[in-house]
Amino acid sequence: MNRPQPVEKMIEIIKRLPGVGPKMAERLSYHILKMSQSEADKLIHAIQVAKKVMKYCSNCYNFSEQDPCKICSDMTRDHRTLCVVETPQDLIAVSKVKEYHGLYFVLGNALSPLDAIGPEDIRINELIKRLENASISEVIIATDTDSKGEMTAVYIAKVVKTLNIKVTRLGYGLPVGGDIEYADEVTISRAIVGRQEM
Ligand SMILES: [Zn+2]
Repeated sequence: MNRPQPVEKMIEIIKRLPGVGPKMAERLSYHILKMSQSEADKLIHAIQVAKKVMKYCSNCYNFSEQDPCKICSDMTRDHRTLCVVETPQDLIAVSKVKEYHGLYFVLGNALSPLDAIGPEDIRINELIKRLENASISEVIIATDTDSKGEMTAVYIAKVVKTLNIKVTRLGYGLPVGGDIEYADEVTISRAIVGRQEM
């Protein structure tokens, strides 16, 4: 017996989410069907509200309810240091570390020739524009330590150096092949303190 069309449609859409395979999409869809109407409405409402109010900060490209975001408009922060991360989730991970008081820039992606992700997909022009228009004296590259993150770090370093700005990369301690998002505070904090010039 085939699944009813509305369920099929829901599975089809949920399946497109990252990390969700067909089995998981089916499980989630039936779970949503079993929810009370009010619980399901809360889920739909939360997605609608977040999609509506969250936008990109035009300075750092993090998601924010305001533009510029709270971090970019916080004058008590060190506006000469810029930490470059791959994703908004990585920014959250680094922002938990007390040792860092500077600003951020979210690339949104990492270079990956196999997936056809090139420099134009990692906001390189936006980064250059930001560096040209602000008095940044150090760029700390906090991309992941996997091959895509390393490739991205080398590329960004090359570009930033042409602007005569100091470039550093998070130091030892981060597991090789790891995702900044999942690194703990102590590890990130040590990696920031031990950052090395590229
Ligand atoms: Zn911002």
